[in-house]
Amino acid sequence: KLVLEHICKNFDSLIAVNDVNLVVEPGEFLCLLGPSGCGKTTLLRIITGFEQASSGTLSYNGKVINKVIPQKRDFGIVFQSYALFPNMTVKQNMAFGLNMRKMPQKLIDERVNEILKLVGLTDWQNHYPAQLSGGQQQRVALGRAIAIKPKVLLLDEPLSALDAKIRVRLRTVIKRLQQDLGITMIYVTHDQEEALSIADRVAVMKDGQVRQIGSPWEIYKAPKTSFVAQFVGTSN
Ligand code: ATP
Repeated sequence: KLVLEHICKNFDSLIAVNDVNLVVEPGEFLCLLGPSGCGKTTLLRIITGFEQASSGTLSYNGKVINKVIPQKRDFGIVFQSYALFPNMTVKQNMAFGLNMRKMPQKLIDERVNEILKLVGLTDWQNHYPAQLSGGQQQRVALGRAIAIKPKVLLLDEPLSALDAKIRVRLRTVIKRLQQDLGITMIYVTHDQEEALSIADRVAVMKDGQVRQIGSPWEIYKAPKTSFVAQFVGTSN
């Protein structure tokens, strides 16, 4: 499991993350939910290793990983902007991490075929990113991230650039990846409806702090503060 203890991050005098304590259980789907500027992306970047915490301890399966570089953490990452390689086909994009790991070609082909099926892109494997819709491109990004079989997948607003209908469809794809592959998901969003519909637990953030953490039902039915009530759209 992933454990965050007293994680703080400041940028000069600005406190972006303020004493966050979290335990993420293996296989669970945790959403970090909160308004713009509440520190959710910064917190996710600390977990990926792209950002160093100013203080606090981050550990994974009992090992402190504060100083471990992102590539060595073996966490999958998916961003809002798909960041695909434009000169590579769908298949080549998905194989990228496996080539880097020097996996034998036959195994790469097998793995990529599996992933193409999982994200529903078998018919598009030889297309280039520019030939795909936004939703399809994000499927490629998802496929590329899970190709390395990460135990943890970190997603930062992965669906916010897509239109509503595709967003709902891709939620199902992501949820199925968690359930079928047992991947732990940490998912940043500012969209309360999305968080409540997809997560096992939701951590509601404000001003760099986790204000409430619980199941979608708890957050919705029993908000602990008026901020949480307002943000998830219930009255207090
Ligand atoms: P959004 O949904 O708008 O991305 P967020 O909740 O993800 O917001 P963060 O991006 O984590 O929030 O930002 C938290 C605070 O830290 C903001 O006030 C932001 O301006 C500041 N911040 C983030 N990154 C940096 C940086 N590299 N340098 C300086 N300030 C930063």
